[in-house]
Amino acid sequence: MDTFIYETLPSRVVFGEGKLETLSQELEKLGAKRALVLSTPNQADIAQALADSLGQRSAGLFSQAAMHTPVNVTEEAVRVAQRLNADALVSFGGGSTIGLGKAIALRTALPQVAIPTTYAGSEMTSILGQTENGIKTTLRHPLVQPKVVIYDVSLTLSLSATVSATSGLNAMAHAVEALYAQDRNPVISLIAEDGIRALAGALPGIAKDPQNRQARSQAQYGAWLCGICLGSAGMALHHKLCHVLGGSFNLPHAETHAVMLAHTAAYNAPNTQNAMTRAAKALDTDDVGAALWQLAKRIGAPTALKDLGMVEADIDKATDIALKNPYWNPRPLTETGIRELIRRAWAGDPPKA
Ligand code: NAD
Repeated sequence: MDTFIYETLPSRVVFGEGKLETLSQELEKLGAKRALVLSTPNQADIAQALADSLGQRSAGLFSQAAMHTPVNVTEEAVRVAQRLNADALVSFGGGSTIGLGKAIALRTALPQVAIPTTYAGSEMTSILGQTENGIKTTLRHPLVQPKVVIYDVSLTLSLSATVSATSGLNAMAHAVEALYAQDRNPVISLIAEDGIRALAGALPGIAKDPQNRQARSQAQYGAWLCGICLGSAGMALHHKLCHVLGGSFNLPHAETHAVMLAHTAAYNAPNTQNAMTRAAKALDTDDVGAALWQLAKRIGAPTALKDLGMVEADIDKATDIALKNPYWNPRPLTETGIRELIRRAWAGDPPKA
């Protein structure tokens, strides 16, 4: 067996239908008396109802969370939290809201309860990405990790079939990369394999019927496992490329992951035999790249970067940026290989090793 280091990130996970009701108890366990609820403007109504349900234990609602955690929004939220004497944060929403909670916690050390409503997985990591003056930087810090995570399937029923598909593939990407990560270990590999299996099994059912609670619950379980992978293993080509594409061409986060996953898996397959054997088992296939591409098509996720707004002329630019800052990847990055990968993803062609 290979040598490895295994480290767990401390967090309490409460999983199951109806578990949103335990929020007040969870805050009590944390010793919190005045929690500030966070949301995007889009989810402000339901987040306000949640804040109201906390009664005396609520400090109020801040509903200005935005994609990529802009620092000016965080600074405003910190001022609001201080003015309201908040002693805890409740992040209700997807990666954008959970990112805001993390950014406030980094500056104030307030404990966070995360209540995820997408499959992005940020709640299980100590990673924070923030944007200032158009530049996104990423850091890891223990203060950023939510202390408690409540997964309640009923909160995901309002996610549309399309957003569920892209968010689910975004989650699967964390697990696929964890299987071949430089710092992979046997425990995370077990979690990754089951995360891929759970999501691959659930997403077609959700595409058919977004109200299918059994499929939703399985997807949320898979998203939790994939979030653990993102928090515990280093990421490689897939996440770096998506970062370049999102940051430089303003492409949407989950959709970009959804398009790229099949292509990055296929690119790395020749150098990651053990990882691909496990992913293949989870996907019940003998070709991981092809199976992921078929899955994306089947569940109605986008399969071409051109459909997300990227223009053909940007393929060369993206290749240059992707190769500029070298990073570890199981298969060496060549200019022709990466250019062809991006070109295929741009055009919507099937993946190729
Ligand atoms: P999001 O949080 O931006 O949500 C997208 C939209 O969907 C928002 O308007 C939101 O209010 C809405 N929404 C969320 N849940 C809903 C539901 N159940 N029903 C109806 N509408 C709902 O999207 P996301 O993909 O979850 O998060 C993306 C962001 O998270 C990116 O900025 C990304 O960088 C970050 N992220 C960070 C980490 C990390 O570990 N730091 C991990 C994953 C993602």
